[in-house]
Amino acid sequence: ANLLDVPASEVIMKCLELGLVVTINQRLDIDTITLIAEEYGYKVEQQFATEFISEEEEEEEEVDESMLEPRAPIVTIMGHVDHGKTSLLDYLRKSNITAGEAGGITQHIGAYEVEYEGKKITFLDTPGHEAFTAMRARGAQVTDIVILVVAADDAVMPQTIEAIDHVKAAGVHMVIAINKIDKPGADPERIKQQLAERDILVEDWGGTYQCAEISAKTGQGVSDLLEKLLLEAEMLDLKANPHKRAVGVVIESRLDKGKGPIATVLVQDGTLKVGDHFVAGHHYGRVRALLNEKNERMKTAGPSQPAVVLGFEGIPQAGDRFVVMKDEKAARELASKRQQLKREQEAKQVKMLTLQQISERIAQGEVHDLPIVIKADVDGSAEALADALINLNTDEVKINVVRKAVGPITESDVLLASASGAVIIGFNVRANLKAKELAEKENVDIRTYRVIYDAIDDLKSAMEGMLKPSL
Ligand code: GDP
Repeated sequence: ANLLDVPASEVIMKCLELGLVVTINQRLDIDTITLIAEEYGYKVEQQFATEFISEEEEEEEEVDESMLEPRAPIVTIMGHVDHGKTSLLDYLRKSNITAGEAGGITQHIGAYEVEYEGKKITFLDTPGHEAFTAMRARGAQVTDIVILVVAADDAVMPQTIEAIDHVKAAGVHMVIAINKIDKPGADPERIKQQLAERDILVEDWGGTYQCAEISAKTGQGVSDLLEKLLLEAEMLDLKANPHKRAVGVVIESRLDKGKGPIATVLVQDGTLKVGDHFVAGHHYGRVRALLNEKNERMKTAGPSQPAVVLGFEGIPQAGDRFVVMKDEKAARELASKRQQLKREQEAKQVKMLTLQQISERIAQGEVHDLPIVIKADVDGSAEALADALINLNTDEVKINVVRKAVGPITESDVLLASASGAVIIGFNVRANLKAKELAEKENVDIRTYRVIYDAIDDLKSAMEGMLKPSL
C-alpha cells in the first residue's frame, strides 16, 4: 500500500474482491501482489519479489520419490460439547499399547500415538474445532482425518454442524463415531438420518462416510473405529521422507520453570534429531532434548510423531512452522531476518490505523484497545464526549483517551496520535492546514463531528467491529 501510495484498507478491499480474506499484517504472495499492482498500473519485477516477498531461504530439499515411506495418519476429534470427545481421547490413551508398554504416567503434550494391529495413529488431543481453526488460520494444516463424534442419545447439534463445515472447508477426510451406544436412549439410526439431512451420508445409507457405533465409556466398537480410521488412511496413501531434515508444526508451547521455553512439535516430514538447528516462527534454537509424553528421552522423531522439543531461544506460537536448517548460521540468519520483518511490521502497524482499520481488527479479535485524542470547542463538550465514550467500554475493547483538550486540531495532536496509534476525534473544531498535511503523511485518522451522538455512534460501531467504510 505504501509503494502504491493508497490506503492499506484499499488493498485489503482489492484482496476481498479477489476472494482473499486478509489482515493488515499478512504477507501477500507474488501472484496476488502482481494482480493488485496491475490494477494501479504498476508492474512487479521479480527481483523486487524475491527481496521482499519470497518465503525466505528455508531451502527445500529435493523430493526424491523413492525415499518416500508410509506415515501414520494425524487425527483430530471434533463434535458437540458433551458428546464424548474427551472420553474417547482418554479411552484411546488408556487402552494404548504402544510398544507393549501399558500404563505409565503420561502427560498432556498436545498429541499422542496409538498403535493398533501394528499400525500407528497420531491423535491431536485438543478436541474441538477451536484449535483446528486456529491452526488453519495460521496456515498450518496438520490433520489428515477428523473423527466427528455424535452422541447417540442426543442429536446433530450446532457444534456438530460447525465441525462438518470446518472439515469441508479444510478438505480433510472424516469418519463418523456415533458415541454413547451403551446408553438406554441411544438411537444411532436417528443420528444417521439427521446427518443425511446435512448431506453427510454414511456407508450403510449408500454414502461415502465410514461410521462406527461406539461407547467411549465401555470401549465397545472402538476397535472398529480404529480399523475404519486405518482404512481411511490407506485410501489417503500418506507418505513422507524420513531421510531428510525435519519440517513440522508447533502444536503447543509454554515456559517451563526448569527447562525454559518448550514446545510440542509434530513432525510432518523428515526426521528430527537431537542437535538439529531449527527455526520456529521467528525463533531460533537447537534441539537439546526430545521427550515423549512419558517424559522419556527420544533420539529422533520421524514423520507424524509428536515430540516435546527443548532448546528454544524464545517461546514459539502454536501453529508456527518448524524447520530444521542445515547449520546454525542458516538458522540464526533466518530467525533474525524474520524478527527484523516482525519489528518492521509492528512499527508500521502503529502508524497505519484509521478508525475503519481499527474496527476491522477489533472484529478479528486482534485489537482490544482504542486510543483516541479528543479536541472540542469548549471544555464542557470535551468532558461530555470523553465520559460518553468511556461508557462504551466493554470487557473486550477499551477506549483510551490519550488527550482531551480545547481548541483546533494541531500538529502536536497529530504527532501524539501517531505515536500512540490513536484516532483524532474533533467536536465542533477543525484541523489547521499543517495538521492536515502531517496527518496525511503519518496516516492519522482525523474525524470531525458537529453532533455528539454521531461521534458516539461511530465509535460504538468501531468497537463492535462494525464500522462501515465512509465513502
Ligand atoms: P466432550 O465435551 O465432547 O469432551 O464430552 P466428554 O468426553 O466430557 O463427555 C461428556 C459426558 O458424557 C461425560 O460425563 C462422560 O462420562 C459421558 N460419556 C462420554 N462418552 C460416553 C459413552 O460412551 N457412554 C456413556 N454412558 N457416557 C459417556
